[in-house]
Amino acid sequence: MKVKSAVLRESGVKAPYAESLPIKIETIELDSPERGEVLIQIKAASLCHSDLSVINGSRPRPLPMALGHEASGVVVEVGEGVMDLEPGDHVVCVFVPSCGHCLPCKEGRPALCEPAAVSNTAGTLFNGGIRLHNDNEKVYHHVGVSAFSEYAVVSRNSLIKVKKGIPFEKLALFGCAVITGVGAVSNTANIKLGNTVAIVGLGGIGLSALLGAVTAGASRIVAVDINEAKLTQAKELGATDVYNSTDPDVVESIREATGGGLDFAFETAGVVPAMEVAYGITKRGGTTVTTGLPHPEHHFSFPYVSLTAEEKSLKGSYIGSCVPERDIPHFINLFEQERLPVDKLMTNFISLEEINEGFDTLAKGEASRVVIKF
Ligand SMILES: [Zn+2]
Ligand SMILES: [Zn+2]
Repeated sequence: MKVKSAVLRESGVKAPYAESLPIKIETIELDSPERGEVLIQIKAASLCHSDLSVINGSRPRPLPMALGHEASGVVVEVGEGVMDLEPGDHVVCVFVPSCGHCLPCKEGRPALCEPAAVSNTAGTLFNGGIRLHNDNEKVYHHVGVSAFSEYAVVSRNSLIKVKKGIPFEKLALFGCAVITGVGAVSNTANIKLGNTVAIVGLGGIGLSALLGAVTAGASRIVAVDINEAKLTQAKELGATDVYNSTDPDVVESIREATGGGLDFAFETAGVVPAMEVAYGITKRGGTTVTTGLPHPEHHFSFPYVSLTAEEKSLKGSYIGSCVPERDIPHFINLFEQERLPVDKLMTNFISLEEINEGFDTLAKGEASRVVIKF
């Protein structure tokens, strides 16, 4: 079938993207689902920083690539061997498929699934296949999903079946921002009632982490960003203290106000200055958790002695250390009970044709989540 899809043809071009237009809306060929695959109609997809990292070249990927991974949709057709989904089912896409058989999967850490790391880097579906073409030219899949498209063929392993009745634009957020942000708090850090928390970087993942910290019963939540509007939003969502990180004394100010720092500091921006703030405001005995995906050549340095003498810990958190089959339905239940109001993260709605402008908004740090409704 022919589908309208957002295809990145060149990475590393200069912003503003509304002028340089790195993403083209093209009508390309989508093959039928093969064994273990599913054709879905995309209902909503949101713009995420990891799409932006492919656009700006900090995560090099094969091109041309059809972008988009934070999405929800409806099953249209299932390939051979898919026994547990049927047309009409509502699904959320996950950007790390999991095989269920490799050692990390067996150990309950599907975020580290070994074959998924290979297929995501190669720009293919989980089984190595490519279902998008422009005549004879292959169009690669972004993290096995390619959701900025009217329809997508994805591996069964990239889908989570969810209950019906939740608006699709809200569902989409659960596939990346929510599992990454809330998962970092609930799984990676496993925070306890009364812990003190800082969130450095208030994009979709940072604000999700903030909501997760509120839900988990953090006693103090310090929110840090360079954008005043984000700090105002963080206060509305439950931050107890907010700080602008353009202030050169921000680390000292927070340490002083909190009696030496916080139990947990979450860095979600993926840039070294944010990581320095997060580590600096982690208290003695505390843990710095990062969900950021920085440029692979960027290095973060810290006083080596602090790990020992202050018993500090550093932890990475990929896809919120989640088990998506367990956590996505769980987080959706919390949302329905109004205990995890993730819909407040949706700040902008655009059409597929406005995608370059949408990424400008995201790159400038002016939006939490920009959502495309189909
Ligand atoms: Zn994402
Ligand atoms: Zn696996």
